Amino acid sequence: MVETATPALATPKRETPAREMPIEAPALGAPVLEVRGLSKHFPVRKGILRRTVGHVYAVDGVSFTIGAGETLGLVGESGCGKTTVGRTVMRLIEPTAGTIHLDGHDVTRLGKGEFRPYRRQLQIIFQDPFSSLNPRKRAGDIVGEPLKIHEALSRGERRERVAALFERVGLRRAQMDNFPHQFSGGQRQRIGVARALALNPKLIIGDEPVSALDVSIQAQVINLLMDLQRDMRLSYLFISHNLAVVEHISHRIAVMYLGRIVEYTDKITLFTRPLHPYTEALLAAVPVPDPAIKRIKRVVQGDVPSPLKPPPGCRFHTRCPYAEARCKVEVPALREVEQGHHVACHLR
Ligand code: SF4
Repeated sequence: MVETATPALATPKRETPAREMPIEAPALGAPVLEVRGLSKHFPVRKGILRRTVGHVYAVDGVSFTIGAGETLGLVGESGCGKTTVGRTVMRLIEPTAGTIHLDGHDVTRLGKGEFRPYRRQLQIIFQDPFSSLNPRKRAGDIVGEPLKIHEALSRGERRERVAALFERVGLRRAQMDNFPHQFSGGQRQRIGVARALALNPKLIIGDEPVSALDVSIQAQVINLLMDLQRDMRLSYLFISHNLAVVEHISHRIAVMYLGRIVEYTDKITLFTRPLHPYTEALLAAVPVPDPAIKRIKRVVQGDVPSPLKPPPGCRFHTRCPYAEARCKVEVPALREVEQGHHVACHLR
């Protein structure tokens, strides 16, 4: 791989609105989660014999780490593979290649039984708080389900634990006997958070956890997640297409495009000095609440190519305003161009 330091691409001066004080990044010890070269290629089958005629390259060589008490935001347009990353880390989908280390243990190829003790350290909150809750079960039973499976508690002990979880996420214990349809959207997502907390996990994967909620409710759920992180030293992999939400909650951010990470750094650097043209374009699309502030628009042409047949070389070259000849043939490596700032672009 040719690695050249070419500062030819001047970062435009971006005018951004005043933002609140950044979240202080926690001191990072040994990572809670370490993902190396993770790939997931889904076979495409056709005909009576179900022959494999191609692959959907949903995730292709993704690497990142998450420390204790840290939030890594994973952003990108829909279809970029970020949800597949989350589900593969959860082992809901088996990876095609790569490794997943949880608390220093390689859990990539563990069987169901062997993975069980690690499973409780790793929980997920889904996007749609309504469809992720069984409408026929009472809220208390939904939250208590993981305890029923993983812990030997009496009925009374379990009910007490569930009541404490309800109160921890801002619900009343009297609501334990209600059904999901009796809660608002925000309350249903709180039930999802309580269920994720039941086994005292180390890492929670939030798969667009607030996208289905009204903006005012989004802020409440995000603040709840941040309070829980502070109190319980939780780590989050926060998957979202919404950069404003990711900026609020994350310490570091990884930007994905067509199955690969193209930029990866702390959030302050990403929002003030993005180095990848795709990140620039994403940031330019974030609405600014002050009409007096104008953003400098970076033009990104065309649609996202199909992950069935991703473009050769840099996958972004079909839309990049700076693409040059070698971008079409050479895959840019994700390189650390300055401390902690990783970029996959030939011009950096
Ligand atoms: Fe960088 Fe890719 Fe654009 Fe080339 S096509 S300039 S490698 S982002």
